[in-house]
Amino acid sequence: MAAARTVYMACKSCNFITEQTVCPRCGGETTKDWQGMVAIADFEKSDIAKKMGITANGTYALKVR
Ligand SMILES: [Zn+2]
Repeated sequence: MAAARTVYMACKSCNFITEQTVCPRCGGETTKDWQGMVAIADFEKSDIAKKMGITANGTYALKVR
């Protein structure tokens, strides 16, 4: 069995977490240099989403360098 470990990247523009080098949401550049993961299930009711300016449900990084 191949032990392929998924490396998660975070978008530098919208903080969206993805496995790709380009953000599938906004087309921005992604980086491995991020900290903290937050799952937004209902962005309209989430204070974190409001603070971060998130306008869609998904998984986001709290800090992206
Ligand atoms: Zn993005």
